[in-house]
Amino acid sequence: MAKKQSFSDKVRKAGMVFGKVCPTCGEAMSYVKRLEPVKKASGSLGFKDTMVPTCKCNIKEVQEA
Ligand SMILES: [Zn+2]
Repeated sequence: MAKKQSFSDKVRKAGMVFGKVCPTCGEAMSYVKRLEPVKKASGSLGFKDTMVPTCKCNIKEVQEA
């Protein structure tokens, strides 16, 4: 269960950056969780959770991707 612990650590760290303000529009950014395809060392494809900061500048791109 070590993996699970490190994941919740990451979530806690991500939580610390909530409230970041976009330098372009000045709005508070919110984080959207996305699954990013990653190539594992074994050569197989996997997915990892990524928190993407979004605001009105890029919300459409993030939601469409
Ligand atoms: Zn913005």
